[in-house]
Amino acid sequence: MHNEYDVIIVGGGAAGIGAARRLTANGKAVLLLEASARLGGRAFTQDLAGYPLDLGCEWLHSGDRNAWVSIAEASGFPVDRSDPPWGKAHPGIAWDEDEEEAARKAFGEWEERLRAVAQGSDQASDALEPGGEWNAYVRAIAGFMSGLAPERISATDYMAYDDASTGRNWNLPLGYGTLVAASLPPAAALRLATPVERIDLTVDGVAVSTRAGTVRARAAILTVSTGVLAGDAIRLPAGVDPWREAAASLPLGRNEKVFLEIGCDAAFEPAAHAYGNLRDPRSASYSIRPNGWPIIEAFLGGDGARILEEEGPAAGFAYVSAQLVALFGSDVSAAIRPLAATSWSRMQAIGGAYSCALPGRSDARARLARPFEDCLFFAGEATHPFDFTTAHGAHDSGQRAANEAMAALADRHRLGRRHKLAAAGA
Ligand SMILES: Cc1cc2nc3c(=O)[nH]c(=O)nc-3n(C[C@H](O)[C@H](O)[C@H](O)COP(=O)(O)OP(=O)(O)OC[C@H]3O[C@@H](n4cnc5c(N)ncnc54)[C@H](O)[C@@H]3O)c2cc1C
Repeated sequence: MHNEYDVIIVGGGAAGIGAARRLTANGKAVLLLEASARLGGRAFTQDLAGYPLDLGCEWLHSGDRNAWVSIAEASGFPVDRSDPPWGKAHPGIAWDEDEEEAARKAFGEWEERLRAVAQGSDQASDALEPGGEWNAYVRAIAGFMSGLAPERISATDYMAYDDASTGRNWNLPLGYGTLVAASLPPAAALRLATPVERIDLTVDGVAVSTRAGTVRARAAILTVSTGVLAGDAIRLPAGVDPWREAAASLPLGRNEKVFLEIGCDAAFEPAAHAYGNLRDPRSASYSIRPNGWPIIEAFLGGDGARILEEEGPAAGFAYVSAQLVALFGSDVSAAIRPLAATSWSRMQAIGGAYSCALPGRSDARARLARPFEDCLFFAGEATHPFDFTTAHGAHDSGQRAANEAMAALADRHRLGRRHKLAAAGA
C-alpha cells in the first residue's frame, strides 16, 4: 500500500489549520480529518440574532505578535485594535468602586505571591491569603484565566503565560471563528464529519483509520484537545502512553458563555463592561453591547461555568439574569431575552475550554509536544510553552509540528537515498 498523502492532520481547529498552511505552502500533500461537521474547533462564530458572535475564542490576545492578525489583514478581515471594554465599567450600576479597587488589588497581590509558590508547592491556592476578604473574586478571575479552581492550577504554568503576554487584546468584528474557519488553504484535502478512530505506525509512515476506511501517509499531526487525547476515543500505538499521561496532566478547564439579546429601547451603554458580584466565586463578567450590538455576553469560568455544565442552559440564563437584575435593577428582566449558551465541556470532540497544568506538572506541555517515532507529531494549544489556552498559541504549535514533520520527512528521504545508493554500490 502506498502513502496517499505526505501528512494527515487530525483536527481542524486553529492548530490543524496552522499546520495545513505551513505544509501546503511547502508543497506537501495534506489531508485534514475533522470529527465535527465544521472547521474551527474551539474557534466558532455563529450568526445569532443577525450578529457574528464568538462562542469560543474572541480576543486576539497579544495582538501585536499574534499570527492571526497578519492572516486577517492578508485576507481582508478587519481588525479592531481599540482597547477591550473590560476596563470600562458601565455607568449607573449598583456598584462600589472602592470595593472593586480593593478586589483588583487583592488579585494583583495573589499573582505576585504566585512567584514564591511556583518555587515551592506550585499549587496556586497556596498564594491565597488565608481568610482573605477577596478570595472569592480571586477564584472567579483565576477561573476566567484557567477554567479550574486555584487548588488545581500550577503557579509555574500560570506565570509562564502571564509573563509572555503583551497585554494587547484586539478584536475581529466578523468573528475569530469566521477567520480561523476561512483560513484552511484550498490545497489541503478536507474531510469533515470524519472522526479518527485509530492511528497505527507502518513501515514508512502511519495508517489513520476512520469509519470510512484507512488512509496512509508518511506522517500524522494530532491536534485534538488534551481532553480527547487523554480519553479513549482514538486508539494510538502503545508507546504513546507517556503522551496520554502528559495530556492528563493538562486537563481542560471550564469556561462557557451565555448570550442575551437586549430589547430595542433598553438603555445599555455600548461597549461597556460589568462584573457580576465581587463576592461570588461563580460570578460572570459581562460584555455589554459589544461592537454596539444589542447583545450582552456573559463569560463564566471555573465554578460559574459548572452551572451550565451540570444544570444546563436554563440554569445559566437564570443565574446571569439574576446578576443583571441585581446590577441594573428589576426593569432589566423585561428588556433581555435568552439567545444562546455554550456547552464546550459537554462536547465529546472538545471536552472543555482550554488546558491548565496541574500543580507540579508544568513540564507536561514540553512532554506532550515531543514527536513520537518521527511519524506522529503533536500540536494544539496545550503544547505551546507559553501561549497555551489561545488560538494564536494553537496556530503556532501547528506550524511548529509542521516544521518537525517536514524535517523528519526530509531526513527519511535522505536516508532512503543513501540506502539505495549503498545497495547499488555507488
Ligand atoms: C469559551 C472560550 C473562550 C475562549 N476565548 C479565547 C480568546 O478570547 N482568545 C483566544 O486566543 N483563545 C480563546 N479560547 C481558546 C481557544 O479557542 C483555543 O485555545 C483554540 O481554539 C484551540 O485550538 P486547537 O486547534 O488547539 O484545538 P481545537 O479547536 O479543539 O481543535 C481540535 C479539533 O479536533 C477535532 N477532533 C476531536 N477529536 C477528533 C477525532 N477523533 N478525529 C478528528 N478530529 C477530531 C475537534 O472537533 C476540533 O475541531 C477560548 C476558548 C473557549 C472555549
